[in-house]
Amino acid sequence: MPRIRVDHDECVSSGACVLEEPDLFAYQDGPEALAVALPAAQALPRERMEELAELCPVSAIVVEDDGDPA
Ligand code: SF4
Repeated sequence: MPRIRVDHDECVSSGACVLEEPDLFAYQDGPEALAVALPAAQALPRERMEELAELCPVSAIVVEDDGDPA
């Protein structure tokens, strides 16, 4: 199963994902406005996840397979 997540070492809080897809991404609570992928995003086909990853200007949105440490 593919999984989509935001790499918080890379996210620069540009907001592109949150603005473009507010049902799929949100800022997490806390002092830093780091984005997180919402549960609805996990139900999408891998192809759609790959498209979402393209939204991020710094490639912080990553798609990976469960059990794949990369
Ligand atoms: S588009 Fe990328 S850098 Fe901007 S908030 Fe989303 S994950 Fe972070």
